[in-house]
Amino acid sequence: MDPEGRYSRQVRFAKIGVEGQEKLRNSRVTVLGCGALGGGIAQCLGRAGVGRLRIVDRDFLEWSNLARQVLFDEEDVRDHTPKAVAAARRLRRVNSEIEVEPVVADITPTNVLSLIEDADVVADGSDNMELRFLVNDACVKLSKPWVYGGAVAARGMTMTVRPGTTACLRCVLEDAPSAEALPTCNEVGVLNTLTGLLSSIQSNEVIKLLIGSGEVNEALLRVDVWSLTFEASRVERRGDCPACALRRFDFLDAPAPRVLKLRGRSLVQVSPERPTKLDFTSLAGSLRKDGNVEYNEYVMVFKSGACELDVFRDGRVIVKGVSDAETARRVVSRYLPL
Ligand SMILES: [Zn+2]
Repeated sequence: MDPEGRYSRQVRFAKIGVEGQEKLRNSRVTVLGCGALGGGIAQCLGRAGVGRLRIVDRDFLEWSNLARQVLFDEEDVRDHTPKAVAAARRLRRVNSEIEVEPVVADITPTNVLSLIEDADVVADGSDNMELRFLVNDACVKLSKPWVYGGAVAARGMTMTVRPGTTACLRCVLEDAPSAEALPTCNEVGVLNTLTGLLSSIQSNEVIKLLIGSGEVNEALLRVDVWSLTFEASRVERRGDCPACALRRFDFLDAPAPRVLKLRGRSLVQVSPERPTKLDFTSLAGSLRKDGNVEYNEYVMVFKSGACELDVFRDGRVIVKGVSDAETARRVVSRYLPL
């Protein structure tokens, strides 16, 4: 080992060592969501030398992301760069020895298995509970260890799930709480100190899983960075857990919703009925008569009066400035051939 090499300091940490580092190099991790938690995790794992990272995110950068999301800068916001793409670009500059695969997509029951099937470990960087239950179903079904994390305001939670060995998310919470029952970061805010801390804890769990450490977190850990409290509760597998005991995958078997209101924001996402690949050049030609069009390789922004549509190549559209699904669907069908 080069004594001053890139990984020399973590290799000197006895619990990783040369052997652990080699395991990291030969590992593959899927990071689902690349906001504050997912971006923090991708950064830790990429710098630590995890050989292959797949980063999945459906959004592109906004100004309100920069206060927390460590992989991005102002240029990414101005260029409307998708988060997954900006994260991959940044990580390749940080560490050219690893492979980073950006995937700009919504995570749905249709694609989640293919996004994780070749991963050794899955890291949760998502921003809502429905999605985490879907991830739990997919990881339990494929026996993939995964690290849950959620953060809002100054409080966060994390838990490491080893399907078949430790409790899964549905052992702890049988059903996803209703969307209205939980506050979101858009409503009550979130601190970058919390997301930094929590993403570091999640990354450390991923690293321990990858190198086969027996010291993985088996508790549900609650953290409050404002009152500075850490509380670990013991969680047990349930004999009647729908997912890990009965192997009923309710979230994975549910149809993907076509129209999704993004909570706490005046945004509605409309997905195409069938998989599609849009040709932005011809679409821009037809939309220019109705409004202003700008596009890059990944996203097209169309503005007409008070209406703004962010159109992705896979046909997914985010409609801004509307708050109900029906209006969003109408606006999309008026302008797009979906
Ligand atoms: Zn379970």
